[in-house]
Amino acid sequence: TAQILDGKTLAQRLKGQLQTWLAEVSPQVGRPPGLAVIWVGDNPASAAYVGQKQKSCAQVGITSFGGQFPAHTSQGELAHLIQQFNQDERVDGILVQLPLPADLDSTKLLHTITPDKDVDGLHLVNLGKLLRGEPGLQSCTPAGVMRLLGHYQIPLAGKQAVVVGRSILVGKPLGLLLLASDATVTFAHSRTPDLAGLTRQADILISAVGRQGLITPQMVKPGAVVVDVGINRTPAGLVGDVDFVGVQAVASYLTPVPGGVGAMTVAQLLLNTVQSYGQRHELVMPQFSG
Ligand code: NAD
Repeated sequence: TAQILDGKTLAQRLKGQLQTWLAEVSPQVGRPPGLAVIWVGDNPASAAYVGQKQKSCAQVGITSFGGQFPAHTSQGELAHLIQQFNQDERVDGILVQLPLPADLDSTKLLHTITPDKDVDGLHLVNLGKLLRGEPGLQSCTPAGVMRLLGHYQIPLAGKQAVVVGRSILVGKPLGLLLLASDATVTFAHSRTPDLAGLTRQADILISAVGRQGLITPQMVKPGAVVVDVGINRTPAGLVGDVDFVGVQAVASYLTPVPGGVGAMTVAQLLLNTVQSYGQRHELVMPQFSG
């Protein structure tokens, strides 16, 4: 049976390291790092995510800014708010919690964030750096997945990786990061015929779709590493895209939901914020290996 890729424990250890380092460094710098989260409307999933992020910030010693804004807040008001955070010396990271209400242009808003505070890695400049393989702020979920695979020393070079899902938030950047680690990457999506035929070739299989039960044991190559990014709300609680029990019998490694990628996403957000803080103050950063 597959070994669990335990994102929850790794995330807790990373947070512990961040907390220890910040307790030492923040007094020297004269301020803690700051993260501004802008959340518009009252999407219940967003409420849970924002709550987790703010709680984790408090745990490690990052000050939270921003907050919840009513659904009728205008594009101009939000842009102005972002501009204020861009200039605010106490703020190292700015995050717009997605999805925004449909009448707002989220892409346009994301591009008003100054790239060196774009801790979600969604600004064109940071996406361009990712494409070029240059250092920059990277999307938290893809970077968190890479960190989890790295922690378990999963070999990637020369491996067949199949990424199911091609969103700008997860699938596309994660495929690029796997490519940068010398995997042979194939993207699959809603228009891919014979998904099972493709996924069965994967040494590394990523599912980032949002569909319960999408990945069955028959779709998994024996010994494959399976990463479940999906989050689906069911009456029984949160589940991923992968048939966990079935696939556990086939795969060599598998991420649980919850306790896998989601936990790493939050930890990576903290790391990105601290990276931005460190650069702003020209600090020598430790490795934070977990
Ligand atoms: P999205 O809706 O933007 O993208 C879904 C992708 O899945 C699309 O590219 C689509 O082509 C593909 N797809 C849809 N149906 C498919 C099918 N039947 N077969 C193959 N591909 C199909 O979603 P997203 O923002 O990329 O998020 C994907 C999932 O990951 C969601 O469940 C989301 O909640 C979850 N998520 C988790 C985290 C985390 O921290 N764990 C972070 C972000 C997103």
